[in-house]
Amino acid sequence: MEEQLRIAILATPGMGHLIPIVELAKRLALHNDFRVICIIPVIRSPSKAMKGVIEGLPTGIDHVFLPPVLTIEELEGAQPGIQVSLTMTRSLPFVRDVLKSLVETTPLAAFVLDHSASDALDIAKEFNVPPYIFFPSNALALSLLLHLPKLDETIPCEYRDLPEPLQLPGCIPIHGRDLMDPIQDRKGEWYKSFLRLTKRLRLAEGIMINTFMDLQGRAIKALEVDEAGNPPLYPIGPIIQTGSSTNQLVDGSECLSWLDNQPSGSVLFVSFGSGGTLSYDQLNELALGLELSEQKFLWVVRRPDNERANAALLSDQSREDPLVFLPKGFVERTRGQGLVVPSWAPQAHVLSHGSTGGFLTHCGWNSILESIMNGVPLIAWPLYSEQRMNAVLLVEDLKVALRPKADEKGLVDGEEIKKVIKGLFLGEEGKIVHSRMKDLKSAAERAISAGGSSIRALSELASKLASKARPL
Ligand code: UDP
Repeated sequence: MEEQLRIAILATPGMGHLIPIVELAKRLALHNDFRVICIIPVIRSPSKAMKGVIEGLPTGIDHVFLPPVLTIEELEGAQPGIQVSLTMTRSLPFVRDVLKSLVETTPLAAFVLDHSASDALDIAKEFNVPPYIFFPSNALALSLLLHLPKLDETIPCEYRDLPEPLQLPGCIPIHGRDLMDPIQDRKGEWYKSFLRLTKRLRLAEGIMINTFMDLQGRAIKALEVDEAGNPPLYPIGPIIQTGSSTNQLVDGSECLSWLDNQPSGSVLFVSFGSGGTLSYDQLNELALGLELSEQKFLWVVRRPDNERANAALLSDQSREDPLVFLPKGFVERTRGQGLVVPSWAPQAHVLSHGSTGGFLTHCGWNSILESIMNGVPLIAWPLYSEQRMNAVLLVEDLKVALRPKADEKGLVDGEEIKKVIKGLFLGEEGKIVHSRMKDLKSAAERAISAGGSSIRALSELASKLASKARPL
């Protein structure tokens, strides 16, 4: 019997990266017959949520956690983006060791890297393994990354000070202030290291991207034209966590049994991804808005933070009780209307539950794809990373989300929140986004059903890898 070909995948820290990487590993192992090993750098020892995702892995997928590499000062002081970039750089010797021991036993068909691990391309080249990038976000964000070296050469000012929105080919125009976080300060270290990583993306033999043709065909085609000089693109999404494949139910049974007792399509799910946090004032206003709306809600509450919108991104949240930060009497007053859960909910299950009728989201790309796959319309509340760009894409281009307006200090007040919730569940604007979301759900299902565009893209890549690894 022929030995199974192997692929190594390098993740970066953070659930939003780990979840799609693990799902990609499953597609490659279960549908394309590769043996896969996931190499996982960590900031701290693996969290409960990380272990939950890893423990559910089927046979055919192995994993190795790398040792933590940050100092206590860096863990306490550095912002999450810097922590990730330091971790990736300092983990390279460990990555090299793992890859070396793998190629010593059998040749690898590919080394797949998360885009922010593009430094590891050199390790792939050293061991003669074809390097590929997996980009877990969308074509608008990828377009910005691939155009960034040119923008850096041609634009003299901070991008946020540009008088006109940026028009990337095939994409909706985006204001400089809405571009992703790492490029908001061109003098900062984060920008410099980000720019260096984006320049390296072109060295890969191909880029897999977690989107699909019917969602972002124009942006993808514009990146594929020869003059752009990009490596081949493989739009293989939506790659999302499948509820049944994780052991999230261990922690989430309360949410699901509560949802079981609510009317169909009545519940607004409120969650800010794996790390989003609100200020103290904003947490209060959100509580007020939910209460005033009289809509059913399921809210994943985090400890507020006045400094950072991603304060919980890389922290271990299991040790604190964030519900103590809610306004006095809120939980009692809204008993019957809503359920609040601390820090983490089984989101894949919640979004696929028939009682869920809307999702107030921080616009992380995994959350968006999970919502599309379940046809759940959105309220866009971007916080960090590329989420402001995603919000513009959702509201102005795809038209599947409503967005509340903030005041001049950036605060969204309770009345505005109530208005937008009522708009989503009862208004004409809600009907429009609902129907658009239904269309996108069907398009997403087509993309990943037999013969669909994403399935074809992944099997085209799989055959290419197999034929190169096993030349005739
Ligand atoms: N997630 C979850 N429960 C939570 C919060 C997040 O299962 O309470 C999952 C969510 O389903 C998604 C991922 O974590 O798969 C978050 O990824 P996303 O890209 O939406 O945001 P990020 O956390 O990277 O900002």
